[in-house]
Amino acid sequence: MLLKRVTNSSMPSSPKQKKVVFAPWRMDFILGKKEKGCVFCTRQKRRKDREDLILHRGKHYFVILNKYPYNNGHLMIVPNRHIQSSEQLRPQEMVELVGLMNQSMRALKITRPHGFNMGANLGRAAGAGIEEHFHFHVIPRWFGDTNFWPVIAETKSMPEHLLTTYDKLKKAWS
Ligand SMILES: [Zn+2]
Repeated sequence: MLLKRVTNSSMPSSPKQKKVVFAPWRMDFILGKKEKGCVFCTRQKRRKDREDLILHRGKHYFVILNKYPYNNGHLMIVPNRHIQSSEQLRPQEMVELVGLMNQSMRALKITRPHGFNMGANLGRAAGAGIEEHFHFHVIPRWFGDTNFWPVIAETKSMPEHLLTTYDKLKKAWS
């Protein structure tokens, strides 16, 4: 369980920020030191796969666990090329993407999901956190998980530590 209370008296307590305080992984994302350059390109090049939560390297993509997940097991399929939109994908990259979507779902079956959300957020208005480098989300879903979203959208607890999830998925990847 990653939940912890942050005791910073200088922290403003507007409803919006209060939600963030109870979600340390989101808070790291918001308040953390911003990396120089593209987060995805850096990870693609530095070859620290477990540390970076890179689950798989394909020909044109790598598959990485989202460090700031919407749900436990939230994966992202990221092209090695720094492109902004799926419109720039080459035909062979399009084919590999669908293959990796299916492989991701197969590996995530160990989490016994009831369903999946898959897709991409293009542009900030669409909710893209990292809009400069296209990436495709695969998110396992369970009945009931949506019940929490309207109330504690930002405060949802991650029941499993990311590296534990990583190791299980690494084994399940085929
Ligand atoms: Zn990039």
